[in-house]
Amino acid sequence: MSKKYTVVTGASSGIGYETAKAFAARGKNMIVTARRRERLEALQKEIHEIAPAVEVVILEADLSSNDETIAIYESLTACDIETWVNNAGRGDHGDITVPNLRHSLRMLHLNMDAVAILSSLYVRDYKDREGAQLINVSSIGGYLVVPGATLYCATKFFVSALTEGIDHEMRHGGHKLRAKVLAPASTETEFEQTANELEEPVDYAQKFNRFHTAAQMAQFLLALYDGDKTVGEIDFAKFTIKLSDAKHAHLG
Ligand code: NAP
Repeated sequence: MSKKYTVVTGASSGIGYETAKAFAARGKNMIVTARRRERLEALQKEIHEIAPAVEVVILEADLSSNDETIAIYESLTACDIETWVNNAGRGDHGDITVPNLRHSLRMLHLNMDAVAILSSLYVRDYKDREGAQLINVSSIGGYLVVPGATLYCATKFFVSALTEGIDHEMRHGGHKLRAKVLAPASTETEFEQTANELEEPVDYAQKFNRFHTAAQMAQFLLALYDGDKTVGEIDFAKFTIKLSDAKHAHLG
């Protein structure tokens, strides 16, 4: 029987890093990707300490390039991929009235193009594979527009709609693959630093009243993975994850 793999994009920090560790702790062989190879090597080392039998394949790629995105998918056609997690993403919290198109386009390519490319290629190849799962990381900003982050939220609405739509089509078409969307709220990662283009890491305890750790968010992602619901959204009042059926895809 061929070896199976779980792919996590954006695995060099934050939610992706912890998600890769969490899947590896279950004995899953991992394919991890991001731009910073040294961070992926640190992850590989950490995984080998907790799960020595797990294979960790490192793929360095800039997913804001559509060509690189297609190329990394094509480089994996010989692998048997049981789960694909599109987690890589960035914020762009600049003033919408003062556009910085260079930054914004990088975000649009990463948050939307890469997710659409990798989702559709994975669905093409694994739609009828028992147990196949596509998990895309959106945001509560993918269900609610947060002031000051309009463009970012618009990219995450795209991720939510795409994923719910894919899952709906899979279920209605009698296919086996399940598509699921995780919608995190504030999570302590490098996200805020990158979104605001800051030199120094952000002190989450100072900036937010409540936030989850990346390790907690990874456990929520696993709860979504383990269940049969399509959407995993952070319920801020209860400070936990709420699993539900699709919220937008009601195609009849
Ligand atoms: P993070 O710590 O900044 O991690 C982002 C990951 O994406 C890193 O591994 C980064 O790796 C990768 N990435 C960024 N640009 C890339 C590029 N051009 N090509 C390939 N990989 C790239 O942030 P995070 O919070 O864990 O973010 C993970 C996901 O959660 C994102 O989709 C984000 O939108 C979503 N989210 C986060 C929060 C939050 O509060 N943290 C809330 C809602 C949703 P390299 O820099 O090494 O490439």
